[in-house]
Amino acid sequence: VSEDRRLVSVAIAVPVRRLFTYRVPETLEGEIRPGVRVRVPFGRRRVEGTVVEVGVAEPETGRELLDLESVLDDGPELDPPLLFLTRFVADYYLCSWGEAIESALPPRVRRRPRREAIGEPGEPAPALSPTKAQEAVLAEILPAVHRRAYAPFLLFGATGSGKTEVYLRAAEAALAKGRGVLYLVPEIGLTPLLLSRLARRLPGPIAVLHSAMPAGERRDAWERVRSGECRVVVGARSAVFAPVPELGLLVVDEEHDGSYKQEERPRYHARDVAVVRARNEGAVLVLGSATPSLESFHHARAGRYRLLRLGGRVEQRPLPAVRIVDMRREYRETGAVRPVSRALEKAVAEALGRGEQALILRNRRGWAKALLCPACGVRIGCPRCSLSLTWHREPGRLRCHLCGIERPRPGACPACGQPELREVGEGTERIEDELRRLFPEARIGRMDRDTVRRRGVQERLLRQFDRGDLDILVGTQMIAKGHDFPRVTLVGVLSADHTLGLPDFRAAERTFQLLTQMAGRAGRGDRPGEVIVQAFDSGHPVLREAAAQDYEAFYEREMGFRRALRYPPVSGLVRLLVVGKEPSKARAWAQLVAEALEQAGENKLVLSGPGPAPVERIRGMYREQILVRSAGRRRLVEAVSRALELVERKVPRRAVHVDVDPLSVL
Ligand SMILES: [Zn+2]
Ligand SMILES: [Zn+2]
Repeated sequence: VSEDRRLVSVAIAVPVRRLFTYRVPETLEGEIRPGVRVRVPFGRRRVEGTVVEVGVAEPETGRELLDLESVLDDGPELDPPLLFLTRFVADYYLCSWGEAIESALPPRVRRRPRREAIGEPGEPAPALSPTKAQEAVLAEILPAVHRRAYAPFLLFGATGSGKTEVYLRAAEAALAKGRGVLYLVPEIGLTPLLLSRLARRLPGPIAVLHSAMPAGERRDAWERVRSGECRVVVGARSAVFAPVPELGLLVVDEEHDGSYKQEERPRYHARDVAVVRARNEGAVLVLGSATPSLESFHHARAGRYRLLRLGGRVEQRPLPAVRIVDMRREYRETGAVRPVSRALEKAVAEALGRGEQALILRNRRGWAKALLCPACGVRIGCPRCSLSLTWHREPGRLRCHLCGIERPRPGACPACGQPELREVGEGTERIEDELRRLFPEARIGRMDRDTVRRRGVQERLLRQFDRGDLDILVGTQMIAKGHDFPRVTLVGVLSADHTLGLPDFRAAERTFQLLTQMAGRAGRGDRPGEVIVQAFDSGHPVLREAAAQDYEAFYEREMGFRRALRYPPVSGLVRLLVVGKEPSKARAWAQLVAEALEQAGENKLVLSGPGPAPVERIRGMYREQILVRSAGRRRLVEAVSRALELVERKVPRRAVHVDVDPLSVL
């Protein structure tokens, strides 16, 4: 089959894993090259796509080829390294190349907006002189930056040990070499505080990229990065695709954070894409965390990453004292179910008395997780999901946290007519109320998805707390991340064990991370901190390991469990969800998918399921789950890909959701 220079392959953002061939009209020939955005006829529509290959063979479909319609004159154009990277994303995460490209590109906007990357520095900050520990770590990283070759590091250091200073010095070195810097932070970590710190230290303008910013600003920042005007990019997940020319350093801060994983197609993990990108482009990669993901620590142990330890806290501040309060005993001794224990109440009172601040974590929002009938045991559930509705006193509605549906509170049990419904499982709203009752004089703020819904509220709360205008900040895991409040000397964690019982193999890892992160918030100034952890299962090893801030003890024990059950990181894992309106259909389709997996995997894959997913129904759709495991990740992905081709004509495409390296299996 001969190739024709006038035929091109175009990637289109549809969920079909193939490319489409078009003919280039003579008038456009000079403008066509890989990475160029074009408009093409597609069925009865006109769609945008990306030329990925020029000069291809005519496909043997027998159908006549159509002409490209036009080249989009304002791009955005993808350069070869990013084309290559998006190809990897498509192959590995089993989406189409067009979908992968779509998630890498900024949104298209018509009118060019005002320029809005963060400005030049207001006043440059003098660099702190590095500590001994930072110097030792930099002695490994800086030579790698000078070598201009792929070198992966895992920077393992407690909260407050000064990881940011290490990133900054590595960035300075890369910039001095004329190379670009990509600095990824979790969604929540993009605080004005971090940005101003970077701007004060690094030369030149810094581009900010994340998916929540207005389309125009994002597009503009993207172009300024591609042109080389901004050589430093700070961003969340999707910024891993920022078109930084001559990439020299890639930082992934808080590499364990779940927000790096995209939970919709394409379901890529930005940290893992960053590893591939750094390797492709010969850049230095620094993954940083106080609680590394088991994956990253496992890679470091196996020698794939260089493990760098950053010792204790800067200025030798002591780690906070952690106390675990047994809530069963609390109940036995007080005879009352109260969300705030006596020990925590006393500690808050003392901190407030000294003019210090407290952070209180309750990782569940709303007033009560469920309304329960004490007579017949019925819970008020969501009509579309297998989940109880959460009672929100403000605005006085029952809400489903999966699908968002709202209902008024029933006056009586819908099953038996019992007039009084019991509120069970207190959330942040109820905790805030309890704290106001206990400490009527205190100034209390609450931070969760309900209170920060409006733009700017989160920043305002953080600023108020930082300035000392609030005494207590209560909230969900939002309050655990990335903030440095020197006046906080007390941290309280309520129901620390509630996530441990979830049927998800990462439940213990997530709980350990959250507790360690929270403990790191206490006593960051010159005063020592105290952490009080309330739990019913107070003897759980995860709580003890987190209290002792002993990551490696946790790692060893948890890895034993992962090895025994062949879960990541010792095994590759792909999750397939087969969904349908009728449970019988979903079940039958899932059976077909499982058979195809057996066939494609030549019986070398380990299959769990099909069976109902832990959350069996969401938005009225029944969910059957299949977990597939195998030691070789690439082979696993290829087998799943073949299996999907085998069922293509038997199971509707929309019914099968594939997640490679899933973070959650609920
Ligand atoms: Zn009832
Ligand atoms: Zn629902």
